Amino acid sequence: MTALDDRPAAPPARAPRRSLLLRLPEARWAGLALAAFAVGGLLVLVGAPVRAWGPVLAVCYAAGGWEPALEGLRALRERRLDVDLLMVVAALGAAAIGQVVDGALLIVIFATSGALEAWATARTEASVGGLLDLAPARATRLVDGLEEEVRAEELTVGDVVLVRPGDAVPADGVVLDGAAEVDQSSITGEPLPVPRSVGAEVYAGTVAAGGALTVRVARPAGESVVARIAELVEEAARTKARTQLFIEKVEQRYSIGVVVATLAIFTVPLVLGATLDDALLRAMTFMIVASPCALVLATMPPLLAAVANAGRRGLLVRSAQVMERLGAVDAVVLDKTGTVTVGAPRVVGHPDDEVLALAAAVEARSEHPLGRAVVAAARERGLVVAEVADFSAEPGVGVRGTVGGRRVGVGRAATPPREGNPHATPRREGNPRATRALGSSPRDTDPDSATTLVDVTDLGTGRVLGTLAIADGLRPDAADAVADLAARTVVPPVLATGDRADAARGMADRLGIADVRADLLPEDKVHVVEGLRADGHTVAVVGDGVNDAPALAGADVGMAMGGAELTMRAADVVVLGDDLRRLPWLLDLGRRARRTVIANLVVAGTIIVGLVTWDLVGHLPLALGVAGHEGSTILVALNGLRLLRGPRRPS
Ligand code: ADP
Ligand code: MG
Repeated sequence: MTALDDRPAAPPARAPRRSLLLRLPEARWAGLALAAFAVGGLLVLVGAPVRAWGPVLAVCYAAGGWEPALEGLRALRERRLDVDLLMVVAALGAAAIGQVVDGALLIVIFATSGALEAWATARTEASVGGLLDLAPARATRLVDGLEEEVRAEELTVGDVVLVRPGDAVPADGVVLDGAAEVDQSSITGEPLPVPRSVGAEVYAGTVAAGGALTVRVARPAGESVVARIAELVEEAARTKARTQLFIEKVEQRYSIGVVVATLAIFTVPLVLGATLDDALLRAMTFMIVASPCALVLATMPPLLAAVANAGRRGLLVRSAQVMERLGAVDAVVLDKTGTVTVGAPRVVGHPDDEVLALAAAVEARSEHPLGRAVVAAARERGLVVAEVADFSAEPGVGVRGTVGGRRVGVGRAATPPREGNPHATPRREGNPRATRALGSSPRDTDPDSATTLVDVTDLGTGRVLGTLAIADGLRPDAADAVADLAARTVVPPVLATGDRADAARGMADRLGIADVRADLLPEDKVHVVEGLRADGHTVAVVGDGVNDAPALAGADVGMAMGGAELTMRAADVVVLGDDLRRLPWLLDLGRRARRTVIANLVVAGTIIVGLVTWDLVGHLPLALGVAGHEGSTILVALNGLRLLRGPRRPS
């Protein structure tokens, strides 16, 4: 059970954005503090007596200060020094030496920046939570030809639902009947609707137009892709970036350092003959401007806003750390089948019925796209697909099994799966060129598809029974995406595939990829990645299959195409939908997030150093110190929010 299962079926309609700020308790307390400050300050200005402005400013201190004070004391009990507490102490200290208005100003600005911070977090969360609102609450279920209205969460796997034009799909499923243009932008960010007809997968929360669909439910509501997206992004929000972990490690010691320095700045001048008020004021100002509030806020808001932004485009980034690393990627390794190709291959040519039936019997157990193509081809021809025993798969090589007492292997041409005697070399019968030619019969020649050859071998005799040609379309935007990636990386994109060199080469030429590594086993793909990393590169691997899992794990950033459960678990980034051009876009986003983090750290650090120097060397007015310190905190927090939008797509 996931936490998502507890969510109400129909999430409350989202309130308009304007009121988001007002709904935050932090904002209401800050508002009260601000109002009290305005009234109290005015009374002071017009020369009203203490008994008039005193209580008003006391309200200001209480409204703005009680929460950070409580939090700070709680932290102190756990032997942690909270910077918020320093702010409250500084304000009280200022009041103690008669700077009551300055202290109140500190409280007000501090409370306001706290409210803005809470707002920034809520904004990021809302843009994630918005995803969940997309799945409709109700569904039209078909039972024995009759329609019944049910709640979407009641749907179970195997139910059949009707989706009318304009309706949102209520659950992940497969189209049984009908055709429609489906707007998947809510999940994949793809702006154009995609045609969906019988056999196609549709996702909860996408919207059908131009036709009705009958859909068989494939996943319960709690496990739908849209629910997983929200879950993953929420998980990401609970992670911390490396920079943040470093800052938090240093923060404690730094804060204690600030307290020690404050005491020194107070006592030393006092001993040397300064007045109590002067010494205290300078020390309080120091404590405020030296506090690391802005530094603490420099890192996570931009990274998490970027994670939410990517999530809305169907790019699920697992953690803030991954977003940080994405900004440093300078080498990309692409898998071929299912990554730059559509991953919906079909058997072409005219293979022998018996060979096809044997192959299909073994492949029926395979999850590989090639396997599904073989099974589909056999079914299309109405062949009987026999039972298979002793099935096993070797990722990146092929599959084998016993069909009707015969050991059969289906796999890479010329290198069938090894079995038994490792020295037994397969013998090819007949003219291999004649079988090769199958894949290029005129009817099947499609300039935008890649053809893979797969041998069907009798493992008992080592005889190749036949060769199947299987063609897969190139993703339409693959060449553009490769060019965009090349423009953003130091190492030109690498195509790494388990397929044969000649097939891979032809495809790479069409994509504009010069560096092709073919005939790779899963562990060879890892070596490709390790080689690039050894040269000091930050490597992203994009893959789709089980055979890519080791390389995905070995990469700095592993990106999986598709929402399969296995890849969702293994990868750092899950890419939903087909639009490959979001990959360069994601690199841009990561880079922008990284640049924003650095800019934030520089701004925050510079302002701290500047104000501290001013306070120690000259006379920094308390109000100015407060404004500078809190101003930089707010600036940094808002700067991070910019990552909720853009960057523009590569063009
Ligand atoms: P890629 O690296 O291009 O995604 P894979 O590593 O998944 O390709 O597969 C490499 C090669 O191994 C394929 O081109 C195919 O020849 C063979 N192969 C792998 N799995 C299967 C299978 N289930 N059926 C037939 N051939 C397979
Ligand atoms: Mg693949």
